[in-house]
Amino acid sequence: MTSSTHLNPDIVVRFAPSPNGLLHLGHAYAAMVAHDFARARGGRFLLRIEDIDGGRSRPEFVRAILDDLRWLGLDWDRDVIFQSARLESYAAAADRLKAMGLLYPCFCTRSDMRQLQEDGPQPEGPDGPIYAGTCRHLDPELARKRAVTEPHSWRLDVAKAAAISGPLRWTDERHGEQSSDPERLGDVILVPKDMPAAYHLAVTLDDARDAISHVVRGDDLFASTDIHRLLQALLDLPTPTYFHHPLLLDENGGKLSKSRGSASLSVLRTAGEDGYRLVQELRAGIFPVGISLSQA
Ligand code: GLU
Repeated sequence: MTSSTHLNPDIVVRFAPSPNGLLHLGHAYAAMVAHDFARARGGRFLLRIEDIDGGRSRPEFVRAILDDLRWLGLDWDRDVIFQSARLESYAAAADRLKAMGLLYPCFCTRSDMRQLQEDGPQPEGPDGPIYAGTCRHLDPELARKRAVTEPHSWRLDVAKAAAISGPLRWTDERHGEQSSDPERLGDVILVPKDMPAAYHLAVTLDDARDAISHVVRGDDLFASTDIHRLLQALLDLPTPTYFHHPLLLDENGGKLSKSRGSASLSVLRTAGEDGYRLVQELRAGIFPVGISLSQA
């Protein structure tokens, strides 16, 4: 879908949903914030479908996303981008990080992780328990041999990577200047066992490839940005400016999610509700009963 004349070619913003389920009101809000951010500055608004989770991604969810955004009146520029068409670039970047000695194979299973939790509380990071680093200490020769036959993911040795990159900073237009502290997320997985690339790797590469000037997304991804900034430094990628927006919360103060009963946009759309009006209300800060916006 193409749209109007662009006044500022330097501003490029994206909405990057994962087609793992139906969008709900929280996504409508996120899409609206990113869209309006781009339009207000005369920039481009791109739509990138983050469809590399083969186990959860479904074509019917992709179709629903496109229909929902059209229904909301949030038009995007250029063709829709699909991460599934870019797998080689993720593999190439992972190979580069491996050649730098920054990735190690991890053979830990879900039950190994559960066991660790049961053995004693694990340090908590902003996104959950931090990986204990079990496989970081494996003999590299032995790990290489095991990797030939055993399923494994690849983790970033974040302390080693941070030592190479040195101190890093990034700017958030809403939260101000940030000093990166990627170690608080631990050794994140960059190549999962059953996926061509993890979110952190794919999103960082794609934001560079799509020349995204401003990453506009929810506060739930704020902490991840420290890892993205680190990957930018390691892979010689530019650093966009960030804008992490507040999240819509339900009556219990939790993030909206389908599993907690938030109505999907498709249900509202097919029930004949007015999507354009819904967006106008979100813009005006008018939310359905019980729903509120998180504070900074
Ligand atoms: N695909 C991610 C999600 O749906 C968002 C990616 C991003 O905005 O950085 O949660």
